[in-house]
Formats: sequence, C-alpha cells, structure tokens
Amino acid sequence: MSKPIVAVVGRPNVGKSTFFNRIVGRRVSIVEDTPGVTRDRIYAEAEWNGVTFGLVDTGGIEMSNQDVILSQMREQAQIAMDMANVIVFMVDGKEGMTAADEEVAAMLRRTGKKVILLVNKVDNPLNPPDTIYDFYELGIGEPIPISSANKLNFGDVLDIIVESFPQGAGLEDDDSIKLAVIGKPNVGKSSLVNALINENRVIVSPIAGTTRDSIDTPFRWDGDDYTLIDTAGIRRKSKVNEDIEKYSVIRAVAAIERSDVCIVMIDANDGVTEQDKKIAGLAHEAGKGIIVVVNKWDLIEKETNTMKKFKEKVASELVFMSYAPILFISVKDRLRLDEVMRTAKAVSEIRSTRIPTGQLNSLIIDAMMMKQPPADKGKRLKIYYVSQVGVKPPLFSFQINKRDLLHFSYSRYLENKIRDAFGFEGTSIKFVFREKR
Ligand code: GDP
Ligand code: GDP
Repeated sequence: MSKPIVAVVGRPNVGKSTFFNRIVGRRVSIVEDTPGVTRDRIYAEAEWNGVTFGLVDTGGIEMSNQDVILSQMREQAQIAMDMANVIVFMVDGKEGMTAADEEVAAMLRRTGKKVILLVNKVDNPLNPPDTIYDFYELGIGEPIPISSANKLNFGDVLDIIVESFPQGAGLEDDDSIKLAVIGKPNVGKSSLVNALINENRVIVSPIAGTTRDSIDTPFRWDGDDYTLIDTAGIRRKSKVNEDIEKYSVIRAVAAIERSDVCIVMIDANDGVTEQDKKIAGLAHEAGKGIIVVVNKWDLIEKETNTMKKFKEKVASELVFMSYAPILFISVKDRLRLDEVMRTAKAVSEIRSTRIPTGQLNSLIIDAMMMKQPPADKGKRLKIYYVSQVGVKPPLFSFQINKRDLLHFSYSRYLENKIRDAFGFEGTSIKFVFREKR
C-alpha cells in the first residue's frame, strides 16, 4: 500500500505553509537548470512515530486576489478530497470564523474522509481567544488550537493525524511500479488512464482494515503489477477555469513525487508548449523515470520522415531531459499503448540498476585519459574514486581534490560517458562531489 496522504486546506494567510514547513523542515524553493522552472515545495514526506506519510500544501500556489479566494478554496478542498486520506482544515484563531471557512466546511463535511480542524495562531494556550468555540459551528468536530509559528500542540495533532490513517497504511509499500500520467488539460491523460485500467484493473479484495483509496488504481499488465497514481484527480475535471493551470500543477506535483515513472503527455496538434516544458521539468527535477508520449498521432498527416522530424523537434524543446524516450501514440486508436507499458517497465528497472564500483572506476579513469580534467592556476581536478551510492534515480558519488576545479561541462562529459556505457535511458542520473580531506 502507498503512503497515506495528508492535505492541508484553508484560506490564504491562516498559516498553512508555516505548518507545512514546521512539520517537514526547511522550505526550499527549488530552482534548477531546467528553464522556466521554479517551484515551492508543495509536497513532502514527513514521519511521526515511525509512520511516514505524504503532506500536501494545497495552498502552495496561491494568488492574493480577493475575488478568487473562494473559488481557490473550493478547488483546494476538491484536490484534498480527491487525493488525501486525511484532511487538515486550518482556520485563523486571531481573525475568527469567516464565510469562506463555512463554505469549505460544508464541502468537507460531505467527504467520507477524516477532517481535522486546526485553529491556528493560538500563541498563548493558557489564554485562548473565545473565537475558538465559534468553530464548533462548522460541524466538523472539535477545533484543536495550535500555534504553527511556535509548534504548540504539534505532538497531539500529529498523533491524531497518524491515528486517523486507514489501518495498515504507511507501514508497508507494495512493489508495484507506480505510474503517473501528467500533462496539460485535454491532452488525453484520462483517456490513457482509462484505456490502461479498464481491461486490466485488479480488483483488490477488501482485506480487513486495508481500505484502498481511490487515489491509486492497481492494474496488471503482461504479468506485472502497476499502480496508477492520482487517477481520481485526473479523471475529475476542474470546474474553476481561471485557476485550472495552477491546480493542475499541484495535482501533478503530488502525483509525480509518489511515482516511479512519469508519462509526460504532449498533444501532437500543439507540439511542446511552455506549460508542457514546465510539467516535464517537474518530473525531471524530481529525478523520476520519464517517458514522453506524443498523443493524438492519428490526427497528424504523415509524409516520409514526419515522425523523425517531429521527434527531433520534441527532443530539441526538451533538451534538458534528452535521456527520455519519445513515443508517438494514439489512445483513440490504441496505437502503441503496449510500447508505452513495455517502456515504463524498462525505465523502472533501469532506475534501480547498480553499477559495480570496479567497472565504474575503470570507465572514469579511461574518460579522464581521453579528456583531461579542467585545471586552474596549475592545479588540476583529480577524481580519486567513484561509486554508485543510490538508486531511483541512480546517484554517483565522486571523491575529488577540489570542488572549485570542477566545471559543469566536465561533469556533463562524465555523465555522457556513463550514459554511453550503461544506458540509463529514461532516467536522470545525479552526481555528488566530495572533497577528499
Ligand atoms: P498560508 O497562506 O496559509 O500558507 O499562511 P502562512 O504560513 O504564509 O502564514 C501567514 C502569516 O501568518 C505569516 O505572516 C505567518 O508568520 C503568520 N503565522 C503563521 N502561523 C502563525 C502562528 O502560529 N501564530 C502567529 N501569530 N502567526 C502565524
Ligand atoms: P485530459 O484532460 O488530459 O484527461 O484529456 P482527455 O482524456 O479528457 O482527452 C481530451 C480530449 O482528447 C477528449 O475529447 C478525447 O476524446 C480526445 N483524445 C484523447 N486521446 C486522443 C487520441 O489519441 N486521438 C484523438 N483524436 N483524440 C484523443
């Protein structure tokens, strides 16, 4: 079973991101070499009493425009109801109850999921404001006073959260391959998801105490077990048009983080758009397995070399993930769906590959002989030792003399050598460089 998911919902400024950060640690805004991608962390893993869970800040992307607050909150609540096992609904104890709080509470009351009502900014627990009692009227149980800024009452809140998980959740992880289908609206994600699961869905018998949530759909393909992540969110269409893009990003981020392999879907009619680059960039930065599928290939008029030219164009737009295989499919005609699945399986295996240290070191020694490492003021970069220290994605640790001597171009050269020798199609590979002391 996958990790349980906790989603935090509430008006802007009630303290959601403060709560999130205090639980998961420092908030890092992730900026990498992928063009156009900057993001705040809106999904992270947390742990309490030996139970790990995923925490989603549904307000992580939020506009301050007053007119849209209500529609934003509805959308956040919907995302939470779609993908969370437990919903944390946060209100502001200083400001007291607002109409928007009541509206969201009405939505959350209808979900079958556990909702925990936190009244934040109660900085002095000995003298809580009377407004706390108003929140009983929301009809979602006892309001729990906390102070996110000071981590007051966090232990009790985390106990309640963890106790609310479906029994057995978070304690084990199945070894099915986790797939996420991501892409902009209308590209064909739900069509693909439905095509894959309709005939292959595994009916999971309800073993006592293990209620499987609709967010993950298990299915079997050619004898292997897979799980589609966040299909509920993909299948349900957002009703809030102006925010559709932003929220599709939140959904995508949470799905990406929990996946092994991301199927990045591009519309053959549109080619690679800015939004496609952004979504693909998220999967790349997360270090996931990636397959690019160009869908609706049935609509393209084909001449000689159409596919080859199209492929070159896609590759040049997504140059930061040149390792990703590019497939041309039509969900409508069920064209090459088998190939998508075969590739997904291959990529997931590649991500777990371990290269023996001996082979790795002789490769790097050869590479250094073919192209001398960079030097500065008479001092040359030395690489003493390389080993693979992690998988999913493959992580390589280099022991070197001096970090300052390392140039991006040389590390790119080493990456290419490793890829030439060992493949790693479909996955990013990561390097860490440590100075020998
Ligand atoms: P979000 O928009 O819901 O994510 O809210 P933020 O986490 O950005 O917090 C909004 C403001 O409330 C910030 O200025 C925080 O410093 C402040 N804040 C958050 N938690 C607390 C708290 O427990 N007590 C007080 N007094 N202020 C808080
Ligand atoms: P989503 O928003 O990404 O989930 O996209 P949908 O799966 O809802 O598909 C959007 C539209 O594209 C629907 O009208 C689908 O019937 C259509 N569509 C999906 N796949 C294909 C395809 O391979 N070829 C064509 N011609 N249309 C497709």
